[in-house]
Amino acid sequence: MTAVPAGQDGSKTILIIEDEPDIVRGLSDALAFEGYRAVAASTAAEGLAIAREQAPACVLLDLMLPDENGYRVCEELRQIDHAVPIIMLTAKTQEVDKVRGFEVGADDYVTKPFSVAELIARIGATFRRQERLTGGDESFQIGRWTIDARHRHMTSGRTKKQLTFYELEMLRLLRERGGEPVSREELLDRIWGEEAAPTSRTVDNFVVKLRRKLEEDHKNPQHILTVYGQGYKLEP
Ligand code: CA
Repeated sequence: MTAVPAGQDGSKTILIIEDEPDIVRGLSDALAFEGYRAVAASTAAEGLAIAREQAPACVLLDLMLPDENGYRVCEELRQIDHAVPIIMLTAKTQEVDKVRGFEVGADDYVTKPFSVAELIARIGATFRRQERLTGGDESFQIGRWTIDARHRHMTSGRTKKQLTFYELEMLRLLRERGGEPVSREELLDRIWGEEAAPTSRTVDNFVVKLRRKLEEDHKNPQHILTVYGQGYKLEP
């Protein structure tokens, strides 16, 4: 994983791809106050160009941009940098598409109107997770997959799939338990932490996604197992 890019004064660059000037202004001010270097783009094309040139440490991505669908932009950002944290800014009516957001490689999302303080907290949380990840360079095996925690991907033969921060954190936590079940509450608490407020359905959605990635037959899982009334456990 590449080092977190910094501005000339050592501050991390946060790219805001958002076409609503009020949101950009509010976010830029708050990020500058927190010691980040904020760079804004009002179109997808401009945002992707900046992502290529400046390698931001984090991207805040509006889903409704004038020139391109945010999901598509997210996929393109992932091609530019497989590890940069991407936080989607979604309108309330798009809530049903959160799972799709994670599928195209977003790490987190906030729903408009969001609190700037909450978003700042989530940016900090993504950096802390990233630091934890770059701190260890372990890889481990689940079934036919080799999980590379440092580069956040899983490989089997020639097949390679990316993992989001949350997916990897979930696998690590389940793995730490050595086959003991972990409750949804603990997964929520340990992975998402106090800065987010997802529901236990979030955990279940993640497990569904992880199974689709990991299992030969996601409807008949062999690795991520449901323990009735207790939670989930991992059978590597
Ligand atoms: Ca918009």
